Amino acid sequence: MRFSKLFIPTTKETPNDATLPSHQYLIRGGFVAQTGAGIYDFMPLGKIVLEKIRKIVKEEMDEAGANEVQFGFVTPLSLWQESGRANTMGNELLRFKDRKNSDFVLSPTNEEAVVNMVKNRITSYKDLPLHLYQINTKFRDEARPRFGLMRGREFLMKDGYSFHSNEDDLVREFNLMEATYKKIYTRLGLDFRVVEADSGAIGGSGSKEFHVLANSGEDTIVVCDSCDYGANIEAARRKAKTYNFELAELKKVETPNCKTIEEVANFLNVSKEQTVKAVIKKAIFEGKTEIIVFFVRGSDELEETKAVNSINALELIDASEDEIKEAGLVAGYCGFLNLNANFVVDNELKNNFGLVCGANDENHHFINTDLRSLENVKYFDLVAVQEGDICSCCGGKLSYTKGIEAGHIFQLGDKYSKAMNANFLDENGKAKPFIMGCYGVGVSRLVAAVIEQNHDEKGCIWTKATTPFMVDIIVSNSKKEEESKIGEELYVKLKESKVEVILDDRINARFGFKMGDFELLGFPYAVVIGKKLEDGFVEIVNRKTLEKTDVKVDEVVAKIL
Ligand code: ATP
Ligand code: MG
Ligand code: MG
Ligand code: MG
Repeated sequence: MRFSKLFIPTTKETPNDATLPSHQYLIRGGFVAQTGAGIYDFMPLGKIVLEKIRKIVKEEMDEAGANEVQFGFVTPLSLWQESGRANTMGNELLRFKDRKNSDFVLSPTNEEAVVNMVKNRITSYKDLPLHLYQINTKFRDEARPRFGLMRGREFLMKDGYSFHSNEDDLVREFNLMEATYKKIYTRLGLDFRVVEADSGAIGGSGSKEFHVLANSGEDTIVVCDSCDYGANIEAARRKAKTYNFELAELKKVETPNCKTIEEVANFLNVSKEQTVKAVIKKAIFEGKTEIIVFFVRGSDELEETKAVNSINALELIDASEDEIKEAGLVAGYCGFLNLNANFVVDNELKNNFGLVCGANDENHHFINTDLRSLENVKYFDLVAVQEGDICSCCGGKLSYTKGIEAGHIFQLGDKYSKAMNANFLDENGKAKPFIMGCYGVGVSRLVAAVIEQNHDEKGCIWTKATTPFMVDIIVSNSKKEEESKIGEELYVKLKESKVEVILDDRINARFGFKMGDFELLGFPYAVVIGKKLEDGFVEIVNRKTLEKTDVKVDEVVAKIL
């Protein structure tokens, strides 16, 4: 390909709202263009990258035995009513009416559509398992579309759905998909981590997320330094029994058969306030945050409510509200209202304030009311994990890191097949709902994720599997005949050797401009044809290291290969 023929509208302008490098460079490099909130067009270079990722995803899905299909981007709302998700999906599900006043949605995911496709077409266990997937546009009316391709409203996802006659077979496919996804992200050249996850709105039992590690990631994940155990923050919170001292405390409030606060208080012969605090802790430990809501909701006058409201997070960390704000953190009171809020305890806070007590997670639940009385409590790392809770972990040190969710696989079970009455006949001729799994890869998000993980202050640094071109031949001065001639020759030779190459043959662009584009666009190598040509040399520039090597003209191809 020739620069002069390719539409690559690079610019020095950074969009106002672009805070992430991927957002800035993908716009500045003319890879994508924004047309509306969370809506992006792919220009030629962006489209090449997107197709490369799509191809790898497709190859690995086909290799794993899945069948590619294509669902309509628009699905009738009636399907969503059948599954019950018309009521539960909220505003992310974009609904609209056609001219006949019929209701439709723009597909944000396709469990309903796939069940509809398979229902009544597969009727026997003999035809199972089956795995159907597509790589297609999704629309989610995200509350805060941002970070460019990272959180679009319209985006490209690979979504796959498997059908099984029993749970064991689902687990087999789930494991196969985990292995397949690992191959995909490895082929893409990404540093990633597989983590245990909660299933969210999609539903089902087991689920795992695939995170591309990058400081700009929106998600916090917990990883072990000695094995490949990882969990997203929600799953980690649910699983980890956090802190030794809390376990010790909790043992004091074992309250068999007590169903109300009053019963617990009487049983322990303590005040209701003390009881509430202890029960909250216990509930947190067990991951039953709903219980807390139940105790506290709407009852301002109750002793229980007062107990919760009296827990002042600021007092606990012995810092003023201003100091907290200065550290970029939001402070809040404990209580049921901020169970999911706002109180972040991270290294920054840890370093800024000597005394930080409590659970070490991002959406910090400051329910450790008795900590004020515990002297010398400093900071508790997420280390004390109750036996059996994280078996897959070796017991190494767990720490937090940031990740970009690039894929998510779920064991759905019969949630959708049951709701939509999609059955097969088992070995005994008995009708049963299909057991299902579903598997997503954020194809367009990956374009941004590659850059989040691979960039410098000059621009993109594509991985070899994702780069639009491997080599950029830069003819320093295209008006010089000899330089242009050598450029053309190398271009042909590299193409013959199946190297993806672009020739910067722009007559009116100066060398500095061409070089700037090379750095911004992030192709792995440039071959610069300039002054050294008089001595028979050209320069190979490595984009990642920016290292320059003089190479004889007739050795360029061998060097690149
Ligand atoms: P997130 O937590 O980032 O909102 P999600 O958990 O809602 O993502 P899933 O339903 O698991 O997303 O969808 C599968 C994959 O689709 C995600 O792992 C992610 O890579 C991608 N994806 C989800 N939402 C978006 C979006 N708004 N823009 C781009 N990609 C997305
Ligand atoms: Mg989401
Ligand atoms: Mg998610
Ligand atoms: Mg997800």
